[in-house]
Amino acid sequence: MIIILKEDANAEKVALLKGKLRSLGFDIHESQGQRQRLLGLVGDTSILEPDDLMANDVVADVKRVQEPYKKANRKMHPEDTVLDIGGHKIGGGHFQVIAGPCSIETKEQITEVAQDVKNSGAHLLRGGAFKPRTSPYSFQGLANNGLKLLLSAKEATGLPVVTEIMTPEHLLLFDDVDIVQVGARNMQNFQLLKALGKTHKTVLLKRGLANTLEELVMSAEYIMAGGNENVILCERGIRTFETSMRNTLDISAIPMLKSMTHLPVIVDPSHAAGIRWMVPSLAKAAVAAGADGLMIEVHNDPENALCDGPQSLTPEQFDKLMAELRPEVEFFGKTMD
Ligand code: PEP
Ligand code: MN
Repeated sequence: MIIILKEDANAEKVALLKGKLRSLGFDIHESQGQRQRLLGLVGDTSILEPDDLMANDVVADVKRVQEPYKKANRKMHPEDTVLDIGGHKIGGGHFQVIAGPCSIETKEQITEVAQDVKNSGAHLLRGGAFKPRTSPYSFQGLANNGLKLLLSAKEATGLPVVTEIMTPEHLLLFDDVDIVQVGARNMQNFQLLKALGKTHKTVLLKRGLANTLEELVMSAEYIMAGGNENVILCERGIRTFETSMRNTLDISAIPMLKSMTHLPVIVDPSHAAGIRWMVPSLAKAAVAAGADGLMIEVHNDPENALCDGPQSLTPEQFDKLMAELRPEVEFFGKTMD
């Protein structure tokens, strides 16, 4: 980190600042330019906030040289992280498709969709039991009963399951859940991230509606700093000025996240598009951009779905997409098994 001092910086105040930084364990390398004086900090600057330093009267500017994330940083861990979920690997050339309905509605619905997506080659089943809805009057999910139905579909099909958690108090209910999803709206629920950091659960962390990639990686860092390094990142579309789709899929996020971190990066084209017919194109674009997997909403009766019907594929449409994806995934050097 480099601190640029103001030209007229008061010498006593500069000495105080340097003393404070030294007491925090930093070595200071000073250089005097023609007009400006620079303090180069050597040490773990992830504990420092540029904004806090900017509050000091003698500081003109602060530049980070090192990223503020450590455990998630690819520089610290050059190889791709590979996670194993119930015998299915993701990351480092292993590609996984997570599929299922937005919400768990009935035993028949979740079991039928689970069987269908399994037959099409998906290895992981999704379904929401605790739903973060914009309106308090919308269907909120079946809560604990929904989890039970999801776990019974897991038992019936052998598919590991992915479902969203909204509060740390619910963690006890998630014992048999294979991947705990932190939704876009909770990406910066730091209490939740810290609680998940104390577990060994694989966490699927979705990018917030209006969050930068660095903010997403810093949220992953919260989980990893607690000791849990089993994190998968998910790009699910962001808010832009465009209104013809639910969100705008940030394709560039995939290569950028993969250069910033070693964690698996997946894409959710369903929430990005919000429109069923667009999902296959976005899914294929994600594969081409280097994604390690996809999360796709599939419903056996999308027209009557209690949540996100317009973006849900029918099992037949999903089957067709999977057949098209397989050669593409292989073309890009990954395996879907
Ligand atoms: C979901 O996966 O059902 C969901 C609510 O997604 P997001 O948090 O990305 O909106
Ligand atoms: Mn949904």
